[in-house]
Amino acid sequence: MNRIALVTGANKGLGLETARQLAQEGVTVLMASRNKERGIEAVQKLKDEGLDVELVQLEVTNSAEVDVLVQRIDSTYGKLDILVNNAGIMHGGEPTGVNSAEIVKAEVLRETFDVNFFSLVSLTQKMLPLLKKSESGRIINVSSILGSNTVQSDENSPWSGIKPFAYNASKSALNSFTVHLAAALKNTNIKVNSVHPGWVQTELGGKNAPLEAPEGAKTSVSLASVDFTGKFIHDGEEIAW
Ligand code: NAP
Repeated sequence: MNRIALVTGANKGLGLETARQLAQEGVTVLMASRNKERGIEAVQKLKDEGLDVELVQLEVTNSAEVDVLVQRIDSTYGKLDILVNNAGIMHGGEPTGVNSAEIVKAEVLRETFDVNFFSLVSLTQKMLPLLKKSESGRIINVSSILGSNTVQSDENSPWSGIKPFAYNASKSALNSFTVHLAAALKNTNIKVNSVHPGWVQTELGGKNAPLEAPEGAKTSVSLASVDFTGKFIHDGEEIAW
């Protein structure tokens, strides 16, 4: 049987491109989309390219939808080989805007953490029994270099001026999940890593980003086949937490 991957937020941006590149490697990809119409369109695009992809409905904050998806993957495939936790949100990126640590509202923090952290942890936990049935389970947490406290506390870093607090803190928390889950699973076949895709032109990354989605998706795709665990990677290199 092919390797089976689940990519969250796969209807556009990095998720769509990650799904495409995994499928090009012969992986059967379940493309999770919360929006049915956009999901149908994205899946059809890849099917037209001859790729083995399937649409699955998933609003990551909806635990009932996660439960249905676990059942569906179990009954259809009996395992999950690759989980790409890609879905994510960011409110106002500007340093002095609504997302500055000085003034950010609790609702913005909660909404951001709900999607980028709590739902991701819960979904991953629910997928673990299926990942344990894989010969080589891989969990790829799509983080960001903006979540690196080493980078954020270095005034000389080009990234340290970009401080949307809710987003950056949610990615720091996600990185912590990567480290802790990798340690918890160290005696299993499952490897867990965090990814910085680069600054990429997507709805979230904006038009000024230097990279396009195919380049940005490469790090996530490469981590589906590595043998290390508990690392934070960009473009083949380890980066600081
Ligand atoms: P994007 O184009 O805005 O795509 C985000 C995806 O996440 C969309 O498919 C979106 O679905 C989905 N999503 C958001 N909230 C969701 C929810 N509650 N349930 C289900 N799906 C949800 O952004 P992107 O740049 O591709 O981002 C993908 C990941 O890369 C994110 O985790 C982001 O933090 C990370 N990242 C991006 C960059 C960059 O420069 N672009 C840099 C570092 C890290 P809808 O279409 O329904 O909104």
